[in-house]
Amino acid sequence: MLNSHEPEHLTLLRDTLRRFIDKEMPRELVRKWDREDHFPTDVYQGLVELGLTGLTVAEEYGGTGRDITAMIMTIEELSARSMAVATGYIQSACYAGLNIADVGSEVQRNTLLPRVAADGLKFSYGFSEPDVGADIASVRTTAVRRDGKIIINGQKRWCSGAKIAQYIYALVRSGPVEDRYNNLSLILVPTDAPGITYQPQATLGLRGDGTYDVNFDQVVVSEDDIVGGPEGWNAGWKKLVGPGLNVEKIEVAAMALGISRAAVDDAWAYAQDRKQFGKPIASIQSIRHMLADVKTKWQACHLMTYHAASVVEGQQSADVATAMAKLFVCDTARDVVLTCQQIMGAYGYADGFDMERYVRDILVMPILGGSSAIQKNNIANRLGLPR
Ligand SMILES: Cc1cc2nc3c(=O)[nH]c(=O)nc-3n(C[C@H](O)[C@H](O)[C@H](O)COP(=O)(O)OP(=O)(O)OC[C@H]3O[C@@H](n4cnc5c(N)ncnc54)[C@H](O)[C@@H]3O)c2cc1C
Repeated sequence: MLNSHEPEHLTLLRDTLRRFIDKEMPRELVRKWDREDHFPTDVYQGLVELGLTGLTVAEEYGGTGRDITAMIMTIEELSARSMAVATGYIQSACYAGLNIADVGSEVQRNTLLPRVAADGLKFSYGFSEPDVGADIASVRTTAVRRDGKIIINGQKRWCSGAKIAQYIYALVRSGPVEDRYNNLSLILVPTDAPGITYQPQATLGLRGDGTYDVNFDQVVVSEDDIVGGPEGWNAGWKKLVGPGLNVEKIEVAAMALGISRAAVDDAWAYAQDRKQFGKPIASIQSIRHMLADVKTKWQACHLMTYHAASVVEGQQSADVATAMAKLFVCDTARDVVLTCQQIMGAYGYADGFDMERYVRDILVMPILGGSSAIQKNNIANRLGLPR
């Protein structure tokens, strides 16, 4: 069930995406990408040619103008079929497009945004480190500024899509650790810079883009690669916790929404087809209840996600709406997918059916982009509970 009040341009976009997905991303191929941890560059280029990476880029830079709801819809639709393509899209439209528009320098906007819109330029997020997870202000990767150059040393972990991206969007320690929030910088490190090495990390799900340990050994970039330009030095924290992190929460919610929708659709179809004791299992009361339950919960997830997108779009304070959407949608979508798996019995656990992939992919959603526990902290803090 979709929103009956959806504006026409969004319905058209959804139809276009579904046609593209049916043609270019058939289920068999998607299973192969997952099995082989393969990123389908040609399919991704097709999305770029449709203008979808330009949904976050202003017209003056070659995009179609920022449309957060359309971007969220694109993530939902792609995630309902392939996380490989969905995460590649996020690396471009969101990580590159939104961040550079919001916190890049004028030079960076002029040079990078047209590449997002026309070529699907991608960033990989380099925030986490071996000893740094939720507490990202504690990063230990260092950047030193010398003679107009920046020298970077250290290690990043879980850099998704690092090998298919053109830049690592890296959070680094650029001054003494004591003043921890005022001595951080965001640096755009070209992924082919001398001194960078990559170590792939195997994960249960989210395959296709690859996730890497990235080592920086005396990597040299220019002052112009500081996000925001030379003035962005030591201003990384403010740039990171601004609108970018809010949108990241609903990007993850949209991925969870897409995966869980695919699981609900498959479970509904399967339950009507599969017969036991001479009748479809969908006529057994406990299965009917599970099916009704997941449909209802999914609809609530849909409303939460698109409501948060409209708050972001309306330029209102979106901290609480996005944290609530991230928390509710990711936890609920995980429960929905696990229930759908149960409905399919052994076939929900078997290779050759998509359900086992949905399970592997959904499990990471409450962890990414600020875990559910961190979102609860955010909500309690923003709503003024005593600490
Ligand atoms: C497949 C995958 C892809 C990823 N991609 C990227 C990427 O592209 N770029 C990137 O930078 N990172 C990426 N990550 C890392 C991800 O963002 C982190 O896993 C996440 O930030 C949590 O950090 P952690 O796993 O180290 O957990 P920790 O921070 O060690 O937390 C462990 C547990 O403690 C809880 N916890 C921690 N602090 C608190 C607190 N203050 N209050 C309550 N509970 C707390 C957490 O909720 C969690 O349950 C990826 C991870 C995975 C698995």
